[in-house]
Amino acid sequence: TLTVNNLIIWMAKFADKIAVNKQFLSDLDTPIGDSDHGFNMDRGMQAIMTKLKTEPASLPETFKVIAMTLISTVGGASGPLYGTAFLEMAKKSSTTTDLVDLLTAALNGIEKRGGAEPGDKTMVDVWQAVIPEIKAHTLTENKIASAVEATKDLVAKKGRASYLGERAKGHVDPGAQSSAYLFTALLETEG
Ligand code: ADP
Ligand code: MG
Ligand code: MG
Repeated sequence: TLTVNNLIIWMAKFADKIAVNKQFLSDLDTPIGDSDHGFNMDRGMQAIMTKLKTEPASLPETFKVIAMTLISTVGGASGPLYGTAFLEMAKKSSTTTDLVDLLTAALNGIEKRGGAEPGDKTMVDVWQAVIPEIKAHTLTENKIASAVEATKDLVAKKGRASYLGERAKGHVDPGAQSSAYLFTALLETEG
């Protein structure tokens, strides 16, 4: 179950991982994209941490600040998609603080907004692998890493990588990797 306090801790850990790995994420985005994913996400997460210095009063408000900042500062495909995820969690958090319910609403939002399905070599692949593991209390860092690795040999059906056809094979999806940081940060928050 989620509170304003542990949501902020989760975001701080996520922001740290993005900051440390921003070059790596942009390097993943080089062969199959436009080399900006880490810089896009870092810009957004830094802006979020600045805004969260003034602690919002409620869980929906906190999610909303995060969502709006992602949408207005990250850009690219990932900004609106992560933004949608957090906006769906903002809505859902007015009736529940259950993490699985919140994350399920977020994933549905990402899929609806971006049109990607599992197996399309996007962030969706990590979200859909991780949520059942969170539900079963069996999520580990290794399982998150495996979900990222599983994107490697796929052909992309959405986003810039989809322009490459078969040539996308052999490269991990950058959005899958940034989502892995989100869920690793969550594991560290709960534990
Ligand atoms: P851009 O490709 O516009 O430069 P980013 O580099 O920030 O945006 O983000 C790229 C990531 O966004 C991809 O690695 C992929 O995981 C994700 N992505 C792109 N399009 C979609 C989509 N339609 N649905 C889900 N995820 C997507
Ligand atoms: Mg990019
Ligand atoms: Mg871009």
